[in-house]
This record gives sequence, C-alpha cells and structure tokens, in this order.
Amino acid sequence: MSKILTIGEILVEIIATERGNGFRAPVPLIGPFPSGAPAIFIDQVGKLGQACAIISRVGDDDFGHVNLDRLRADGVDVSGIEVDPMGTTGSAFVRYREDGSRAFVFNIRHSACGQISLNDQTRKLLDDCTHVHVMGTALYAPSVIETILTAIGTVKAKGGTVSFDPNLRPEILGSPGMREALSAVLAKTDIFLPSGEELFLFASAKTETGAVEELLKGGIKAIVLKRGEAGATYFDGSRTISHPGFEVTEVDPTGAGDSFGATFVTLWLAGMDPAAALELANASGARAVTKAGPMEGASIRAELDDFIATAARKQA
Ligand code: ATP
Ligand code: MG
Repeated sequence: MSKILTIGEILVEIIATERGNGFRAPVPLIGPFPSGAPAIFIDQVGKLGQACAIISRVGDDDFGHVNLDRLRADGVDVSGIEVDPMGTTGSAFVRYREDGSRAFVFNIRHSACGQISLNDQTRKLLDDCTHVHVMGTALYAPSVIETILTAIGTVKAKGGTVSFDPNLRPEILGSPGMREALSAVLAKTDIFLPSGEELFLFASAKTETGAVEELLKGGIKAIVLKRGEAGATYFDGSRTISHPGFEVTEVDPTGAGDSFGATFVTLWLAGMDPAAALELANASGARAVTKAGPMEGASIRAELDDFIATAARKQA
C-alpha cells in the first residue's frame, strides 16, 4: 500500500484582517489557523483518503494541539509529530499588502520544529512510506535538511518516489545551506511542482519550454507549473496539458499551491491520467482560496467532483 510522507514545519497562522504593510502598529487579527506548508499539503492528502504522515515537532501548547487535532481528524498519521513539553509551537503572522503580496513574521527556527531529527518512532515511518514530498520552506534548518535527505535516500532506495515544491518565500531564502539543499532535493525529484518564476530556479534556459526541457533531461519525470488564478500546466517527455483554472472569488490565496500539489501528487501516484489529475488539482487550489486560513479550504474528493460539475473554467 502506498503512503505519502512529508517533513517540516508545523505552525499556526494569524492573519491581519486589514490590508497594509506589516505589523509595526496594532492591527486586528484572526486565528490561530493550523498551518505550515508541509502540514497544509499533508492535510489535503489525508482528506482524499490517502494514507499519509508528517514528521515534525510542536510544543505542548494550544497552538500545537490546534494542529494535531486537525491533522488527526483529517486522516493524517500524526505518530511522527513529537510533542516537546518545553517547546513552543511555530507561528506565522501574515498581512496582505494592497497589491496582494504578503508580509510575514515567522517564528520557525526557534520554535519546537526548529530541530527535527529521526528517532525510533519516525524511522518506522520511513519504512512504511513509499513517497516523500518536500516543501522548499522546510529546508530552514540543518537538522531538518538532514532528516529530509535521509528520508529521500531511504524511500528511493526501496523504489519509492519524490515530489518537490520549491515554495520559496523571500524571508527564508537566506537560511544557511538552503541553496545547496534545494539542489540536492531536485537531483532526486520525480515530480517537480514550481510556481511561476520558480521554474527557472534550477535551469539556465530563459524560456518556459527551454527550462522544462532542461529539467526533464536532468531526470525529472513530470513538471506541474502552477500559474495562480491562470491555472496550471503539466509537462512530461511526451505531453503538455494546460488547465485554465476555475472562476472563484479569492478570499485568501495562502495554501492554494500546497492543496493543489497534494491533490495532484495523490492522484498521480494512484495512477490517474495526468489530465484528470490536473483538473482535480486545479479544483483543489480554487476551493482553497475561497476560505480564510491556509488549511480551511481543504477538500474531500466528493467536494472536488461537485465543484467541477458546477464551477466555470476561466476563459483563456
Ligand atoms: P502558495 O501561495 O500556496 O505557495 P503557489 O504560488 O504555490 O501558492 P498558486 O499558483 O498560487 O500556487 O496556486 C496553485 C493553484 O491553485 C493554481 O495553479 C490554481 O489551480 C489554483 N488557484 C490559485 N489561485 C487561484 C484563483 N485566484 N482562482 C482560481 N484558482 C486559483
Ligand atoms: Mg507554493
């Protein structure tokens, strides 16, 4: 049986309800919402009924339990989440600027998930899992990078697969060892899920087709390029399939890419035709942006099917 594993940060997200630049003055806030890119991803995988797990750490505090409760309820194996009695769960404060870009204040590296290492409990998960999904955001600390690279090595050695979403935030690009870690993960990647300009992170070509060709030549089996409200495109050696995206009212874009990726990877691993998987992944991303809070718009399969049956596709 297949089982999907991810490793990395678990956070709560607290969102400013008024647009503006950052947090240098008091602003009204809503939250805490369960969050962290790997957590959002794995929650959506769990909601689709696919066996899955996450390796992470939280504090024994309300912010940690908000996440544990949600992930457990949505079908994620939480046995690899260590609860540190002396730790504090990670957090992210986010405020949208007028132009739609986001300002973050993160507490990750000095939170409970700032250190993630393998123990007997989590090594068992490596034995069970057949696929590893890596979020670029999770490469924020040396211990986490080491854990991820070990997991990739173990799972690939027994014939498993790897997906990779660079998911880069300017706030974390400067982390020590991040660039090298991104390249090391890419070298083992089967499915690559960049968003917009991230396609060019590891390619010298300046055009989309050139970059795709270069990456596929390097050993990646499939690339799914996310284009925000304009949908997404799937590429492999023989096929290019585009989806225009669905017409929705965007309330909160955070988590769209993570939900999209979760749905695509789950269905692709289950052997679904890429065109059908792309349609469902776009539905997953579209539904995600209609709810405030990064994990609040996660969908079960029936919700995706109902949505596709009634929603309008964007006009190209
Ligand atoms: P994230 O901010 O979560 O990292 P991302 O940049 O990785 O997001 P996006 O391209 O923003 O990913 O979104 C992923 C997918 O979600 C898109 O390919 C699309 O299918 C869907 N999506 C995102 N925004 C919208 C929108 N406004 N309307 C409809 N669909 C959307
Ligand atoms: Mg993303």
